Amino acid sequence: MRPGFNHAPGLLDVPEVWADFLQRWYDTSTLTSKVRAGIRVNMAKAGRWAAAQYPEATDPGQWRRSTCAAWVAAVDRMTVGDWVARRDHLHGRLGTPISPRTKAHILMVSRAFFRDLQEWEWSDRCFDPARALAVPRSVAALIGTDPRVIADEIWAKLLWAGLNLVPGDFPGTHTGTYYPMELIRALTLTWLFSGLRSDEISRLRVGCIRWQHDGMPVPGDSREILADDAIFLLDVPVHKTGTAFTKPVDPIVGQAIEAWQAVRPDQPKRLDRKTSEHDDLLFSVRAHPVAKSYINQTIIPALCAKAAVPTADVRGTITSHWARSTIASQLYNAKEPMTLFELQAWLGHRTPNTTQHYAKITPNTLSKAYTEAGYFARNVRTIEVLLDRDAVTSGATAQGEPWQYYDLGHGLCSYTFFEQCPHRMACAKCDFYTPKDSTKVQLLEAKDNLQRMLVAIPLTDDERAAVEDGQTPPCQTRQRRQKGT
Ligand code: SF4
Repeated sequence: MRPGFNHAPGLLDVPEVWADFLQRWYDTSTLTSKVRAGIRVNMAKAGRWAAAQYPEATDPGQWRRSTCAAWVAAVDRMTVGDWVARRDHLHGRLGTPISPRTKAHILMVSRAFFRDLQEWEWSDRCFDPARALAVPRSVAALIGTDPRVIADEIWAKLLWAGLNLVPGDFPGTHTGTYYPMELIRALTLTWLFSGLRSDEISRLRVGCIRWQHDGMPVPGDSREILADDAIFLLDVPVHKTGTAFTKPVDPIVGQAIEAWQAVRPDQPKRLDRKTSEHDDLLFSVRAHPVAKSYINQTIIPALCAKAAVPTADVRGTITSHWARSTIASQLYNAKEPMTLFELQAWLGHRTPNTTQHYAKITPNTLSKAYTEAGYFARNVRTIEVLLDRDAVTSGATAQGEPWQYYDLGHGLCSYTFFEQCPHRMACAKCDFYTPKDSTKVQLLEAKDNLQRMLVAIPLTDDERAAVEDGQTPPCQTRQRRQKGT
């Protein structure tokens, strides 16, 4: 067993062979260091599990489909604290089942690890990682999209706090904030209005803003006479899922960025780790870019304190990414909403599938759509009922004479339990049916003492069409076709 310091600390108690493979994979993979570290931690768990359960499988090259099946089952039953290097920080969570997402993540990194090993011919292709280490359907069914959308009323308060930010809103800043207020305002408004990832915000370049009016760039001097419909374009650098792109955002963001650019001290160019280019990063002072965690650790708590809203809800602590979900959801549910493809372009997603994770239909929009669909009105219609008061007062009803008639459009039905009749569209031969063009109906309609009422009754599409248009019911149409009339 590795004592834990020859390789990474995360490889403590991992079998020697497994640790060597893991470290070699870590040194060879071209994934980002953060992703590689995450995969190494999870695959170290697999190494510890193999050492305890399948000692012959401590060499990844010895894994077979049966080993994979056993590992998938172990992941499915895994609890917090299983096969980890240290448990002292887990406190009350120790022994609780891991979430379906965590299970899927462990299996995803297992697939990536074994796929690389096979691709690089470090092990034989004894199994297909995509199939042997697939997420079980029972686990996949529990995983769905859950965009972290901030409630409208809380988001409105955060916007107000961001627009009215002052130095005193940051605790311990009586001697002035560490960063200039122009930078903090620009950073805050960019987070609140642009829907960018924190990494994208921290890597924005100097000069990333442009004004446009009617598709033409607006020179700096003429901005005072800008029309209301002038827009502000923000150049987003290469990001997590795609290349650089330009997106329109609210002018208030452009004004805040311009204000910061006007006072930003000249600084040496910094290396962008994602593109390996040296560039003037917008949000940097004293030759250091603002930390990506600054939004989460400083700006969001300050905004929440100013707006008097909690920094967390039942789904966890508000993070910078929640703004992206919230803005996307609001644009998708606006009065004149963006389409899914427009939203995809605005968010910079590679596929609309990813956008669907953000574009959650709000209950308000769903209620409006449901109401406008008119489900109740579609299925329940009022129908006219004629009441023959003469028949009631003369006592003829006691002898079985009909006294109420449902108007079917093409004729009248005198059956008292009309709404329960299963043959409503095949009335022609029914004893309760009287055609509209018959003498009996004409005599009835000529009576003075005839009362007309409306009752709500569930109707099918055909029945509704017959009642509304007075059209011939299908059964009669068929009969007439057969007779050639
Ligand atoms: S078949 Fe038509 S007329 Fe006869 S009871 Fe039913 S609805 Fe009334």
